[in-house]
Amino acid sequence: MSTVYLNGSYVPKEEALIPVDDRGFLLSDGIYEVTPAYAGRFFRMDRHLARMRRGLGELRIAFDPERLREVHRRLLADNGLEDEEVSIVYVQVTRGVAPRTHAFPEGRVEPTVYAFAKAFQRPPREAWEQGFAAVTVPDRRWARVDIKSIALLPNVLAQQAAAEAGATDALLVKDGVAIEGAHSNFFAVLGGTVVTHPRSNAILPGITREYVLELVDELGLPAEERPIQLEELLGAEEAFFTGTTTEIRPTVRIDGRAVGEGRPGPITKRISEAFHEGVRATAAAGVGSA
Ligand code: PMP
Repeated sequence: MSTVYLNGSYVPKEEALIPVDDRGFLLSDGIYEVTPAYAGRFFRMDRHLARMRRGLGELRIAFDPERLREVHRRLLADNGLEDEEVSIVYVQVTRGVAPRTHAFPEGRVEPTVYAFAKAFQRPPREAWEQGFAAVTVPDRRWARVDIKSIALLPNVLAQQAAAEAGATDALLVKDGVAIEGAHSNFFAVLGGTVVTHPRSNAILPGITREYVLELVDELGLPAEERPIQLEELLGAEEAFFTGTTTEIRPTVRIDGRAVGEGRPGPITKRISEAFHEGVRATAAAGVGSA
C-alpha cells in the first residue's frame, strides 16, 4: 500500500480524499511537478522547485514550494524507494477548496497540496535500440503552456491519438512547426546540428531539455534553439524526445516515414549515454539530493 502526502499529513493512499469543491477538480486551477530520483537521490530538484515557484507565481497561488523538499525525501523513504534505480515524485498544488466561481475565491483559502512517489519503469533496452514511432497531432493547447498547469486535456487527447495510431509519442504541430511532445520536449538533428524549439510561452521549459542542451555543449556538438519546420523533418538525420519520464527517447518514424536510417542515430546515442552517466554520477555523489 502506498503512502501519499496530503495537506501536511502522510496517509495511506486510500485515505487521501479531496473535497468535491476543490478548484483543481472543478476548474483545473492548479499546477503540478514531477521530479526524478536516481537510487534515491533527487536529480535537479532545485530546478523543479524553481519551475514550480514560477508557475505558482503566474497563477497567484500563495504557496512556497521550498516546503516540499522534505516531503520528497519522506515519500521515497516511506514507500521503500530509496534504493530504486529510478523513481519519481509527483506534486500537485491547487488553489484550494471554495464554492465554484471562475474568479479567485474571496479571503484566504489554503492551497491543496498532494504528492505521491512511485518507481519508474524504463522501456527494455531492446525496445530503445529499435527506436520509437511518433505521429503528428495539431497543437490545440492554450497560449501559456510554459506553465505546468494540471489542465492537460489537449495533451491527453494528443497522447490518445498517438496510442490509437500505434505510436509511442505525439509530436504537437502548430503553424507548420514541430513544437514539442504531449509530455516531452522534441529535438531533431539537422545537418549535424542538434535543434530544439526555443524557450517561449509555446513550450514547457523542460528540466531534461535544459540538461540535454548542457550535455550537447559539453560534447562539443553544434546546437541551435529555433523553431523546427515539420517539412525539415523529412531530411532530419535523427530525432528524439526528452522528459523526466521520457529521458532520451529516439524517434525513428514520424507519421510512418523513417527518420534518417530508421534507427537511433549516433548523436542520440551519445547524448543518451552522457545523460545516463550524468544521472548515475549524481546518484553516486548525492549531488542535488537535498
Ligand atoms: N513538455 C511537456 C508538455 C511536458 O508535459 C513535459 C513533462 N512534464 C516536458 C515537456 C518535459 O519536461 P521535463 O523534462 O521537466 O520533465
